[in-house]
Amino acid sequence: MTADALLRVDGLTKDFAVRSGGFGSARRKLRAVSDVSLDVWPGETLGIVGESGCGKTTLGRLILRLLEPSAGRVIFDGADITHLSEPEMRPLREHIQVVFQDPYSSLNPRMRVRDIIGEPLSNFGFSKKESVDRVEEVMEIVGLPAEMMTRYPHAFSGGQRQRIGIARALAVKPRLILCDEAVSALDVSIQAQILNLLREIQQEFQLTLVFISHNLGVVRHISHRIAVMYLGQVVELASEDDLFSRPLHPYTDALISAVPEPDPDAMARHEPLSGEIPSPIDPPSGCFFHTRCPIARDECRAKAPAFREIAPRRWARCHFPGETTEQGD
Ligand code: SF4
Repeated sequence: MTADALLRVDGLTKDFAVRSGGFGSARRKLRAVSDVSLDVWPGETLGIVGESGCGKTTLGRLILRLLEPSAGRVIFDGADITHLSEPEMRPLREHIQVVFQDPYSSLNPRMRVRDIIGEPLSNFGFSKKESVDRVEEVMEIVGLPAEMMTRYPHAFSGGQRQRIGIARALAVKPRLILCDEAVSALDVSIQAQILNLLREIQQEFQLTLVFISHNLGVVRHISHRIAVMYLGQVVELASEDDLFSRPLHPYTDALISAVPEPDPDAMARHEPLSGEIPSPIDPPSGCFFHTRCPIARDECRAKAPAFREIAPRRWARCHFPGETTEQGD
């Protein structure tokens, strides 16, 4: 990992204190994010994928500095921002923007679209004239007619509302946009339009995107590299090509089996996921994935695998990376 990354996450960990029983039960530690390290390069899209509860949204909130980490660091453009106060973070918020999941609840229904998109501009000291010009400009970029700027959010469809959310994030010309389940609430055909829009914007403006989703098929569509999360840990990190052509972690393999492929033989080469996700309050011993892993062995139950570089730019957290069911015990 090098100093040239725009965003660097180093050993990031987040614990929550929760009551596992009823009222009055003792508080226990839930480790939502566990020792996550990764870099995001300028001008790339990094996808973060995993089942519900894997810690991906918590990781996103740690990156945005909306949550205090329990351990580890967040480095943005070479500067350690892990423990900056909110006033110290304020100037940085211009460079780090977010697009949320739900285009219905994330836009203030009492504000006109012009004001929703322009709000970050006035927060960062743009004049009224600059703000109106920029709102027009970003509305055109996201494919919304400028004459719609005086309308309220209820007059727009779900896809159009997400375009408004993207325009708002784009308005201040950020360097990094974090998209948290940004297309999950949309119909499949609209999802494709929004993904294409995000990809075009990323390429045109050489933006850096962190794209979080539970859906590997969606993440594949937009990401240059993909980090796969399981029970708070990143278990594999690779380019989109490498990840799909030869997954190194059995969990990645299982996620790929659920991604529709035109070639049924290609799908059959992957082992589907079975069993329930364990509780993060009481994770399994050794490798967290051993209770669901088709090739688990005694070593997996006894010893936690390290997250290590298996091949150039390919990282995995597995004692037997790249092995298949036939090769395992
Ligand atoms: Fe499966 Fe063992 Fe690898 Fe864990 S360490 S993913 S249990 S093979």
